[in-house]
Amino acid sequence: MECEICGKHEARYVVMIEGAKLNACPVCAKGAKIISEIKNNEYKTKKGGKQYETEKNKTQIEKEVSEDYANIIMQGLKNMTLSVDVLAEKLNIKYSYLNHIVHGKIMPDIKLASRLEKELNIKLIEDVVIETGGKQKKSDDRLTLGDIIEVD
Ligand SMILES: [Zn+2]
Repeated sequence: MECEICGKHEARYVVMIEGAKLNACPVCAKGAKIISEIKNNEYKTKKGGKQYETEKNKTQIEKEVSEDYANIIMQGLKNMTLSVDVLAEKLNIKYSYLNHIVHGKIMPDIKLASRLEKELNIKLIEDVVIETGGKQKKSDDRLTLGDIIEVD
């Protein structure tokens, strides 16, 4: 049911205006004498918007250590003219452990990676966007004409 005053919104109230009973939306009902509320079941189902919720892709950003961590750390050591043992001492970790990391044998966890970032002034941690639920994005080799138009 439409508001009989503005005709734009859903009427929610029956109001008395200049002796006439009119169906009015909450905006138009403001300041008018409200006689009764319209209990309109349609109102809720129309504005439910269920489809919107389920189609919406939920994305989540996670932090991940770069796969190229060994090279990045090596470069950082060079730039700072630090040796592995000095860095190990600074970080208060075992030399052998750090040596394994520098040679790409062990991937540092996020905590250690962020300490390495600060110590060597490097960028080790990447933000990875993970899509949970919703439609999976098509991989590049499976582009359809529709996808190309969309991207453009
Ligand atoms: Zn209105």
